[in-house]
Amino acid sequence: MSLNIALFGAPGCGKGTQSALLKKEYNLYHLSTGDLLREIRQDKTSPFFEEINEKILTGKLVSDEIIFKIVENKIKEINIEGNFSGIIFDGFPRNLSQGEFLIEVLSKMNLQLDYAFILNVSLEIVVDRILNRFTCTKCGAVYNTKSKPPIAANKCDECGGIDSFSKRSDDTEDVIKNRLDIFNANMMVVKNLLGSICVDIDASRPAKEIFETIKKHLQNKKKFYTLSNSRIVL
Ligand code: ADP
Repeated sequence: MSLNIALFGAPGCGKGTQSALLKKEYNLYHLSTGDLLREIRQDKTSPFFEEINEKILTGKLVSDEIIFKIVENKIKEINIEGNFSGIIFDGFPRNLSQGEFLIEVLSKMNLQLDYAFILNVSLEIVVDRILNRFTCTKCGAVYNTKSKPPIAANKCDECGGIDSFSKRSDDTEDVIKNRLDIFNANMMVVKNLLGSICVDIDASRPAKEIFETIKKHLQNKKKFYTLSNSRIVL
């Protein structure tokens, strides 16, 4: 797995949308800790259910202990499967210990994190995006009542699901405030830890433009490695 990317940014910055585009373009596995936690939250018998449910509903971070287990297992599984060119880490790492853990786990498998894209957006934009967003429960497609409504009001453009739209239970004003505070409190330490692989991106622009900017950075990397002949990417 030669292209491992972390997407980092406030809730509503567009990590999910960029992940979906990157996944298709580069054959990457989309590892979203938020999605993995929501999956576990469906199973009330899981030993992690209580904690995950409580933390998601209040917008606080789930304990590192649980996150480490979930992430390590997932990376191993993806690596063994061998079908992907790399991983997009969406919403992970979110604090210093998660950053250190990721570097360590990858290096144990002879892998590395190649890029961390920081998607920067203003507070007004994230609040507006989150309050207006809804998703298709069948395929996960994300919509926005203002900027990206589905073509037919009750039908998903992507999978054709009927009446399958729902809003996330943590997309409310109070919970968003917590999620933003936690993100702001941790952003700098994670950035400092990851150092020169971090790239700041203006994420207030349309999704396609953001994607083009990210692609340009990745193409530079490809050229660099191809020229240096030390490692061919993709
Ligand atoms: P957002 O980035 O918009 O907050 P996510 O879907 O990534 O949305 O996360 C939803 C919730 O899941 C978070 O508010 C938090 O409770 C939990 N969560 C997700 N990723 C992590 C993580 N890496 N560490 C701890 N908790 C997490």
